[in-house]
Amino acid sequence: MSDCIFCKVAAGEIPAAIVKRGDGMLAFKDINPQAPTHLLIIPTTHVGSLNETKDAKVLGELVGFARDLARETGIAARGYRVVVNTNPDGGQTVFHLHLHLLGGRPMNWPPG
Ligand code: 5GP
Ligand code: ZN
Repeated sequence: MSDCIFCKVAAGEIPAAIVKRGDGMLAFKDINPQAPTHLLIIPTTHVGSLNETKDAKVLGELVGFARDLARETGIAARGYRVVVNTNPDGGQTVFHLHLHLLGGRPMNWPPG
């Protein structure tokens, strides 16, 4: 996907604060953080959204990667939130599948 910004991040064509690389996955800091810890976790190959995800194994790996990152960034014990905004009603603005890992402050519920 030549016009996808997260594909460009994965290819190193757009700079990003990379936090961790995994097998087919990448975590980097959100450019507009909504919490003291706000990381984005993406598959390095293009998937448009959760709706387009065909391989549940990939989803499991992404969630496991988020869990590991929560521990490694020191937010696991107090707690955190993993979010997958999907399509316009879900608030998705970048159409390359990504998990938000948010923590470092108490989260509100219900979400806006
Ligand atoms: P969405 O709204 O699609 O769930 O989340 C997209 C996220 O990507 C937003 O939180 C936004 O701040 C972040 N974002 C958009 N463009 C860039 C970028 O070029 N670099 C980084 N690191 N984050 C971005
Ligand atoms: Zn992409």
